[in-house]
Amino acid sequence: MTWRLAILAVLLAGFPGAVSAQGTIERLYVLDCGHGRAADMSRWTPGLNVGTPFDVRDNCYLIRHARGWMMWDTGIPEAVARMPDGLVAAGGAMVWKRPRTIAEQLGQVGVAAADIKLVAVSHTHPDHVGNVGMFPAATVLIQKAEYDWAFGPTRSFPFSADIAARKLEGDHDVFGDGSVRILSAPGHTPGHQVLLVRMAATGYVLLSGDAVHFRDNWENRRVPSMNTSKEQTLASLQRIADVLKELKAELWINHDRVQSEQMKRPPRFYD
Ligand SMILES: [Zn+2]
Repeated sequence: MTWRLAILAVLLAGFPGAVSAQGTIERLYVLDCGHGRAADMSRWTPGLNVGTPFDVRDNCYLIRHARGWMMWDTGIPEAVARMPDGLVAAGGAMVWKRPRTIAEQLGQVGVAAADIKLVAVSHTHPDHVGNVGMFPAATVLIQKAEYDWAFGPTRSFPFSADIAARKLEGDHDVFGDGSVRILSAPGHTPGHQVLLVRMAATGYVLLSGDAVHFRDNWENRRVPSMNTSKEQTLASLQRIADVLKELKAELWINHDRVQSEQMKRPPRFYD
């Protein structure tokens, strides 16, 4: 390496969104992982929309990379599909239904749960980790801060502690080629993370987890009352905004009903 390249490498390494390699994933499938209804939207918009009902969607994302299959988040438990009245959650604040199962959608793609070797979760709330146990061959990618919080003495285990987990401390380039990157984005929970994927035709997409729940909250930087840190949330939202701008990335907001209803669904995919 010449001294000019060495200086360039040092400069790029310090750049917040620097991507060392320009890999792409082969396919991204958006799975329907639950439909939720809340009686009072103000839980997500403090001081606004008091008593207004609120519909959310819950998505899971299946990624095909040349080196294997990966899931991002796992949604509401599959068993909810068999509950006609749905599952009451969040202390009565939400009712979840599961019109379609993951198993059914994996079938449409022709993938077995045992083929999926990596499961990354944005955080450990039940609508994101409800089916971690259906991927027995997988290693779970989770922030150490999230794991220690969720499996701590004061909280019930969100999934079996016997499941192999790789505890991350900050950002992580999953396949080492820049195509799938976990970015630390705490605030909704102590170890919340988001996922940045790169596709040949679609370009960069940032999958929000619950860093933000819907478009209007994103545009107005509103912080839901259940978040563990308002300050961290606002810093994470700024970080996401910087990444979107720098990489011309699209933000896909997991729980946004309007955006979710526009998504291609299996067997269709993004590439
Ligand atoms: Zn959620």
